[in-house]
Amino acid sequence: MNGLPTADFFAFESLLDPKEQAKLAELRAFLATEIAPYASEWWNKAEFPAHILPKLAALELSTPAQRGYSNLFAGLVIAEMTRVDTSIATFFLVHHDLFVESLYGFGSAGQKERLLEDAASLRITGAFALTEPGHGSDVAGGMETRARRISSATGKSDAGGDAWVLNGAKRWIGNGTFCDYMLVWARDESAGADGLPGAVRGFIVDASLPGVSRSRIENKIALRTVQNADIVFEDVQVAEADRFAGINSFEDTNRLLRGSRIMVAWQAVGQQLAAFDVARQYAVERRQFGRPLAKFQLIQQQLVTMLGNAVASMGMMARLAQLQDDGAADMPQVALAKSYTSARMRETVALGRSILGGNGIVTDYRMAKIFADAEAIFTYEGSYEINTLIVGRAVTGVSAIV
Ligand SMILES: Cc1cc2nc3c(=O)[nH]c(=O)nc-3n(C[C@H](O)[C@H](O)[C@H](O)COP(=O)(O)OP(=O)(O)OC[C@H]3O[C@@H](n4cnc5c(N)ncnc54)[C@H](O)[C@@H]3O)c2cc1C
Repeated sequence: MNGLPTADFFAFESLLDPKEQAKLAELRAFLATEIAPYASEWWNKAEFPAHILPKLAALELSTPAQRGYSNLFAGLVIAEMTRVDTSIATFFLVHHDLFVESLYGFGSAGQKERLLEDAASLRITGAFALTEPGHGSDVAGGMETRARRISSATGKSDAGGDAWVLNGAKRWIGNGTFCDYMLVWARDESAGADGLPGAVRGFIVDASLPGVSRSRIENKIALRTVQNADIVFEDVQVAEADRFAGINSFEDTNRLLRGSRIMVAWQAVGQQLAAFDVARQYAVERRQFGRPLAKFQLIQQQLVTMLGNAVASMGMMARLAQLQDDGAADMPQVALAKSYTSARMRETVALGRSILGGNGIVTDYRMAKIFADAEAIFTYEGSYEINTLIVGRAVTGVSAIV
C-alpha cells in the first residue's frame, strides 16, 4: 500500500541491527517471489512444496540465534514467514526450532556431527513426535509410548544394553509423512522411584526403520500445506547411540518447548500482520454505496482494533525477546505471550474476515486461509487454555490444570 504506514506501526523492526534488517529484507523478497504467488494453491491442494527447500536453505536462516542473530530477529523471521504463509512458517518452525534446536541442545557430539549440518541446510528434514492419539494437553503425565532397553544381540531386556525398543503411537506430527528423522518421546519402561514406568526419554528415529508406519491426517481446515501424520511404532529398534543423552525427564522437554512456544507466539503476530495487510487493502479498494469500504467509520474502527492488537502483541514479543537475550524468559512469561497473542489473533482474523464479507470465506482473497490457519496456532504448542492456566498457576500458586 504505497504511502501508507506498515502494520509494524511502532517500528519494532528498527530495533534490529543493519545486518539483520538487510537479512529480513532478503527474506521478504524471497517470500514475495517464491511463496506468495503459490501459497493458496498449495493450501487448497494440501500439497507440501518440497522443491522450495534448497532455496529456503540458501537463506541461511536456520536457528538464527545459533548464528549470532538476536532473538528479536529470530521472532520477526517467523512472523514474516507467517505473514505470507502460515504453513511454510510451521514447516520451518517444526524442523528448525524443534528438531534442529533439539540437536543443538541435547545431541551428543556424534549425533551433531552426523546430522546437524545436513539438517541445518535442509538436506534432511526432521519432525518432533510428542503428542499421542490419547494424550495432547496431558501428554507429560499420560504418555503411553514406551521404550525398553535391550541387548541387540539377545533381544532381551538389559539395563545396560546397546539398543531400545519403541512401541506406541503419535498423532499430529508435522512433517511426519516425509521427514527423514523424527525426535520421538517415550517413557522408559523401567521403574522410576515410585515403581511406575520411569523417565521420559528422547530418541532420534530414522523414519525408514522397520516397524514405523505413518499416515497423513486428511481433511484439515487449517495448515493444509503442512503434512501432519499419525505415526505408529511397533517394536522399532533404535540404537542407544540414537538416544538423546541430554534428555532425562519431561523438564528437559519443556526447556525445548519454551523456545518453540515463543516462535508460535510470533506466528500469532505474523497472522495478525497478514490479516491487517489483506483487510486494509480490501477496505481501500472495495466500493459499496458508491465509496470505498475504508470510508465507513465502523470499518476504520475494525481496522484500528486489528492494528492495535497486532502492535500490542509485537510489543509483548519484543520485550520477551530481550528477556531471551538475557537468558531470563521463564515458562509463565512464555505462556502469557502465547495465550495473549493467540487470543488477540483470533479477534484480529475474525475482524479481517468480516471486512472481506463473502470474499472472506474463499481462499482466492487470502483472508479465508489466514482465518483458518489461526485455529491451529490457537491450539498447538500448548492450547490457549493450557497456557492461560500455566500463568494462572504462576500468579496464584494454585494449579487449575489438574
Ligand atoms: C496443526 C497441528 C500441528 C501439530 N503439530 C504437532 C507436532 O509437530 N508434534 C507434536 O507432538 N504435536 C503436534 N500437535 C499437537 C498439539 O500440540 C496438540 O493438538 C495440543 O497439545 C492439544 O492437544 P489435543 O489436540 O489432544 O487437545 P486436548 O488436550 O484433548 O484438549 C481439547 C480441549 O480441552 C482443553 N483442555 C484440556 N485440558 C484442559 C484443562 N486441564 N483445563 C482446561 N482446558 C483443558 C484444551 O485447551 C482444548 O481446548 C499439532 C497440532 C495441530 C492441530
